[in-house]
Amino acid sequence: MTAPLRIAVTGAAGQIGYSLLFRLAAGALGPRDVDLRLLEVTPALEKAEGVAMELVDGAFPQLAGLALTDDPRVAFDGADLALLVGARPRTAGMTRADLLSANGAIFTAQGRALNDAAGDAVRVLVTGNPANTNALITQQNAPDVPADRFSALTRLDHNRAVAQLAQKTGSPVRAITRLAIWGNHSATQYADLSHALVDGRPARDLVDRAWVEDDFLPTVANRGTAVIQARGSSSAASAASATIDAARDWLNGTGPHDWTSMAVVSDGSYGVPEGLVSSFPVTTSDGRWAIVPDLAIDGFSRSRIDASVAELAAEREAVRELGLI
Ligand code: NDP
Repeated sequence: MTAPLRIAVTGAAGQIGYSLLFRLAAGALGPRDVDLRLLEVTPALEKAEGVAMELVDGAFPQLAGLALTDDPRVAFDGADLALLVGARPRTAGMTRADLLSANGAIFTAQGRALNDAAGDAVRVLVTGNPANTNALITQQNAPDVPADRFSALTRLDHNRAVAQLAQKTGSPVRAITRLAIWGNHSATQYADLSHALVDGRPARDLVDRAWVEDDFLPTVANRGTAVIQARGSSSAASAASATIDAARDWLNGTGPHDWTSMAVVSDGSYGVPEGLVSSFPVTTSDGRWAIVPDLAIDGFSRSRIDASVAELAAEREAVRELGLI
């Protein structure tokens, strides 16, 4: 019998955790049983205990194990998958350096704990913001874990872009393929339609340039803010859903004629400096990802990718100066 998939989830008492955990328990990653290891900071343990009680009350047939802790080494012990959702949000009066350093403390500790305790097959997916740089810090502090096991979430941006293109062209979501998010999970991200297909037809033949530049790109980049304005709090269910999509595709593979977007450690492809955790179009198979090679990049795309990558390089420099990597 296959052992349950051991999944560590940080920020278990948070908004995203509240959507994510129930879908994991219900089998959203596939038919394999799951063993959930919830990590929270000590002050939030009581709240997380309530979430754990509700997970028990769901009587999920695939939930084979459940534990709650404030010790990263316990949470990551033998983990096959670590979903790093918990992070320190920016609060009033915080500078960028304050934010990077507060998250640096969290992700250096979690990187070391993953290095020491995680299972040999571990995959680490960072949702907590600033996700790309948090993933970089985690990876740099886990030197014994292969660098290709770390990823930051740009799947929500990808999903938002797919949904906008589907709406605009009056097509079902499943008709949209080969869309790509490049760069940082921030307002500089670039949602690239150049290679996208709608039912096999180039998207660029179906939408005009003005819509792409004046409507599509700003809508995707600012969608999080729009949701906050409408809902009064940040998008949590869609972020949880994207986290599931990303983990499922990483473990189980992308379809034969499609790709997805993941922020991964750059090998220098497409001029993105080696070592930066930047989003690329990737295919996945057997738990491994590969950057889609040889795509033509036009001048507009080049300048957008370069701008987002420059932001990532500046974040890397800042965390170097703080001694976090
Ligand atoms: P959420 O669960 O809403 O968000 C968690 C992280 O995900 C944040 O960094 C947030 O970034 C990011 N995020 C939110 N929405 C999106 C989105 N649409 N796309 C991508 N990323 C997104 O935050 P809560 O404050 O409700 O919960 C955080 C929990 O994490 C708390 O319970 C806290 O105690 C816990 N925590 C646990 C740690 C640990 O286990 N060691 C460490 C630190 C925190 P942004 O704020 O920029 O939206």
